[in-house]
Parts: sequence; C-alpha cells; structure tokens
Amino acid sequence: MRLAVLKEREAFETRVAATPETVKKLVGLGLTVAVETGAGLGAAITDSEFTAAGAEIAPNAEDALRGAGIVFAVQMPSEEIRALIPRGALLVCIAGAFANPALVPALAEKGIDTAAMELLPRITRAQAMDVLSSQANLAGYRAAIEAAAAFERSFPMMMTAAGTVAPARVFVIGAGVAGLQAIATAKRLGAIVSATDVRPAAREEIRSLGATFVGVEDEEMKTAQTAGGYAREMSEAFRQKQAALIAETVAKNDIVICTALVMGRKAPTIVTEPMVGGMRRGSVIVDLAADAGGNCALTRPGEMVTTENGVKILGWRNWPGRIPVAASNLYARNLFTFLSAFWDKETKAPKLPETDEIVKGVMLTRAGAVVHPEFLPSRAA
Ligand code: NAD
Repeated sequence: MRLAVLKEREAFETRVAATPETVKKLVGLGLTVAVETGAGLGAAITDSEFTAAGAEIAPNAEDALRGAGIVFAVQMPSEEIRALIPRGALLVCIAGAFANPALVPALAEKGIDTAAMELLPRITRAQAMDVLSSQANLAGYRAAIEAAAAFERSFPMMMTAAGTVAPARVFVIGAGVAGLQAIATAKRLGAIVSATDVRPAAREEIRSLGATFVGVEDEEMKTAQTAGGYAREMSEAFRQKQAALIAETVAKNDIVICTALVMGRKAPTIVTEPMVGGMRRGSVIVDLAADAGGNCALTRPGEMVTTENGVKILGWRNWPGRIPVAASNLYARNLFTFLSAFWDKETKAPKLPETDEIVKGVMLTRAGAVVHPEFLPSRAA
C-alpha cells in the first residue's frame, strides 16, 4: 500500500506529517512512502534525507497521491488537493471539522475516510497519538520564550554590581497542556508566575508548578469540566466575576500568556480593551488562542500589535508552527503511533474497528458516509 505525505500549503504552516524517523518505521510496516518534494523544508528536512530513510520523492501532489491508500498531512488539504485523493483512501490530519462543518459531508461525498486527529479521545491509551497535547506543549513553551524576547526587561531577578533587576511577573490564562508548559517555562526563566483556569483540577496543577492560582472559586467552577476533560463555555454571571479578578491581576503583571480554549467553539474573550489599557507600557500579551479568535479583544490574528499605551500583543497564528522541527517530530510520531496501533500485519493495511473508542472518536467519514456522532446529518439538520 502507498502512503502519501503532502507538502503543507496553508499560510503560516511550516510543519510536516512525517520525518525520516517515521518514514523508516512506515516502510517497516510494509508501506511504500511517497513524499511530495519540499514537504520537509519548513522543518529543516531535505528530500534527500527522506530518500535515505526509504521514501520516494514525488514532484507534485498529484504524483504523490496517485494510487495512495493512506494520506498523511498536518492540516486539511485544500479542495483542489482533496480532488486528487483516491476514493477509499484514509486521510489522517488535523481536520478542523468544528471550524468548518460543511467539510465533513464533502469528504464523505469524495469517498475519503477521514481520521480527524484533533478529535482523539483524551484517554490513556491514546496519549502517544495525541496531536493536540504534543503541539500545545511546544506552543506553550514557545509562547513563554517569545514573551521573554519581546519584553524589554528581564525575566529573572538579577543582582549585579550596578544594582538589582526586578523579576518579571507573568500571568497565564488557561492551564491546559499549553498553559502548564508556559508556566513551567516562565518559572525556569525566573519569572514570578500566576495562572487561572475554570477547571477545578487545574488549580492543583498550577500550584504544583510553583505558580499562584488566581481564580473564581464558586459552584459553577465545580461543573466547569466536561466528561471529555475540556472546559465548558461559562455563564455570563461567571464571566463577570472572572472579569473583575482578571482586570485586577492583569494590571499587576508584565506579561499575560493567553491559552484559554473551549473545544469546538470560538475562544472566550477574557482580556478586554480596558484591561489592556490598564497595563504598564512595555508589557507583553501573547495570545495562543489567536487561531480561535483570541482571548484578548485587541488581538489581530497573524500580527503583532503595539497599543497606544505601549503594550505589545503577539497574535501569531499557528504557534506550534513557530517551533517546526520539534513540532513535526512529535506530530509525525503521533501519526505513526495511530497508524501502527490499527495496522493489520497480515493484510498490510489499516484495520479500524468501528467499536474501538479511539476509532469512534477520530473517524469523521467512512466508506462514503459521515460517521462521527457530532457531525451526523441528523444533528446538523
Ligand atoms: P484546551 O486547549 O481545550 O484549553 C486550554 C485551557 O483553557 C483549559 O485548561 C481550559 O480549562 C481553559 N479555559 C477554557 N475556558 C476558560 C476560561 N473562560 N477561563 C480560563 N480558562 C479557560 O485544553 P487542553 O490543554 O487540550 O486540555 C484539556 C483537558 O484534557 C485537560 O483536562 C487536560 O488535563 C486533558 N488532557 C488529557 C490527556 C490524556 O489523558 N490523554 C491528554 C492531554 C490533555
């Protein structure tokens, strides 16, 4: 069976869905791997490194996809590229299905079996395949590093012969995978760190990293976590209580790192324009939620904004893509782990049992039909 690795075409995308390490393993499963030329360049992998690992290089997407039974990509390929995917092929990528639900019936119509890796259930067995975790972890690290670089003072306290330099104060909003890594990185850089989240479990995790928990602790917080582990969209009353506390906290901090997301929805607006207005000149806001609309009202996705009061807002899109080598390494391993977990050694083809919890969670479309419960035609009507 042939597996095609596509070159990414979306703006700001630098990652690749396979690396020489995973190509070797894919070949070991009995696959022929075709990598589109230049696919790895954004992640510092040359065509010849892929060739040395056992891949063949295809001059374009059409050639890579001809006869492919499996397609690996980071983001959902464009309509034009999807038209080249053979019927019945298994496409494994971050599908972005919630942001674009109309895509799901279109994939079914094309006869593409789609594994949407962002829908993977957050269960122990799936941890090594969890693209959201692997990418969010690196994004959180990168957010703290970029905050430190944009901040014109220092993160650690420094006692020098010329006098003492005060440590930076960092406030992290949202303590999921990205937020916890941002906390840990900012701590390692010597900042004084505090953080907030709506899920009760996050409170202890924040404290265990040596940061201070700041947050509304009321009855609603007890139910803020869904069975899947994600945060719920909070009520207006909660948001008002949270806003007062956040306004007070933001004003006391030099750096705000925003990572709050609600699965399948627009990111909540948490840092308002007046809150930014209350920050000191030279402060930095890093908005990791920019792709989902941003947690800060003044974020301009894809840009860095400097406000009139001298606050820099880094609203870059695709934060994992800003650390592409590490992000591609982990993403490629996630995809290999997924495929090998469902690999039939006899037939040398994927076998995805419909009753398996992971399969039920990730599969959007199969054999020409929409199969994911969230996207069934009956739900959409
Ligand atoms: P996420 O990216 O969906 O959201 C980031 C954080 O923002 C979350 O902690 C969320 O609670 C928080 N948030 C949402 N709305 C907020 C608001 N209004 N104010 C403040 N904070 C807000 O989250 P994630 O990093 O994907 O983690 C989601 C869950 O999955 C967590 O419970 C995490 O522990 C769990 N998880 C489990 C596994 C596993 O067991 N395999 C792996 C990774 C993550």
